[in-house]
Amino acid sequence: MNHAAHSPAPLAATDLNLDPYWMPFTHNRYFKTKRPMDRLLASAKGAYYTTVEGQQLFDCLSGLWCSSLGHGHPKIVEAVKRQLDIADYVPAFQVASPESFRLAERLADVAPADLNRVFFTNSGSEAVDTSLKIALAYHRLRGEASRTRFIGREKGYHGVGFGGISVGGMVANRKMFAPAMIPGVDHLPHTHNLKEMAFSRGQPAWGAHLADDLERIVALHDASTIAAVIVEPMQGSVGVVVPPVDYLNRLRAICDKHGILLIFDEVICGFGRMGDWFGAQAFGVVPDLITFAKCVNNGTVPMGGVIARQGIYDTFMTGPEHMVELFHGYTYSAHPLAVAAAHATLDILHEEEVPKRFGALGRQIEEAAHSLKGEPNVIDIRNCGAAAAVELSPLPGQPGLRGLRLFEEGLKRGMLLRFTGDTIAMAPPVVTTPDELHRMIEAVRASIRAVA
Ligand code: PMP
Repeated sequence: MNHAAHSPAPLAATDLNLDPYWMPFTHNRYFKTKRPMDRLLASAKGAYYTTVEGQQLFDCLSGLWCSSLGHGHPKIVEAVKRQLDIADYVPAFQVASPESFRLAERLADVAPADLNRVFFTNSGSEAVDTSLKIALAYHRLRGEASRTRFIGREKGYHGVGFGGISVGGMVANRKMFAPAMIPGVDHLPHTHNLKEMAFSRGQPAWGAHLADDLERIVALHDASTIAAVIVEPMQGSVGVVVPPVDYLNRLRAICDKHGILLIFDEVICGFGRMGDWFGAQAFGVVPDLITFAKCVNNGTVPMGGVIARQGIYDTFMTGPEHMVELFHGYTYSAHPLAVAAAHATLDILHEEEVPKRFGALGRQIEEAAHSLKGEPNVIDIRNCGAAAAVELSPLPGQPGLRGLRLFEEGLKRGMLLRFTGDTIAMAPPVVTTPDELHRMIEAVRASIRAVA
């Protein structure tokens, strides 16, 4: 099992000054005091990372849900290297590389229905904020400038921009910044109900009625004030919270009734993980805007974006002619390296039928993950597409500590797990073999027992 790209030179615990790097979403003091050498990842190949000490870690979450094909795919590596020689950068405004138009066309081809106009960003957070801006401007152009409110969902994760944390519902990401939230946001209730749906396989049968809360919010504020509803089809970051059967359809119907745009944040669901190109197709519901990022180019070069229904784009194109239609964009929108990586990724997704293979892997993951039922402190197991989560009961007064311990036990067993609170999520790359899946689950089992 030697998947190391090349053997990194071993690093002594004292070699590295850890102080200057302010690590994101990380307990910096814990990390830096502990100097965890097993958390310094020197290289990546296929489904494995190699630490600075040469330990191999199986990549249980495909990086951060982004490296779905495994690391260092030769076709992507080659495409990015080649692009560096062709053009390292092309300005994003008023000019563009031909490849960005070709990429937009290819994305339109795999997006559902008439979602066929693509705006590029560099991350999921930027994609979310872009989608909210498009929604506001769209209503304004149609003479409905009063539609300014947004509706998100409890436990939702929509990145870390001010728009994203405002519509998001993960409390820790919001509370430190509360005064700076964008105004006029409501939240639908979450659908994570252990009493009603614990240990459901795939989509829970219970919970579609929770979508009807949207009618309550509409009645409260009046439809004429509401711009858009934003939800992740499957909530990944909070720990694989799966939409109840018929829930997304009901949201769609209520949005249609009241002229509200429906945004699917598909930063995690997009590009195969759900067993189809997007969650929209996997769940059979067509939104008005889709946000994407991560797997669009296998996480190799930062890229995100928004795919809009043609009618939304057309509204901008038939607006006042003298101006730029949307005063919004990024220096690195459609960055040539990201575009090249995305073309290569799309080639692979098509040629190797990746969405279909994720569907098959998902069925194996479902069986494997649910075999953990009955292990100590396991209060729920959820799965959807090629993703699963195991939730442990929190230690009294110390929520999240069991999750952290489980993560650390996983490392000892050669597994790079991802924990959120006391839940661990698993979404391994599509190249995962049955043997690797088995080893991952058995390592999780042993880790759960060790934590107990
Ligand atoms: N939306 C969703 C649904 C996500 O899962 C994420 C990242 N996990 C984001 C937005 C933010 O993406 P990024 O970290 O690229 O800004």
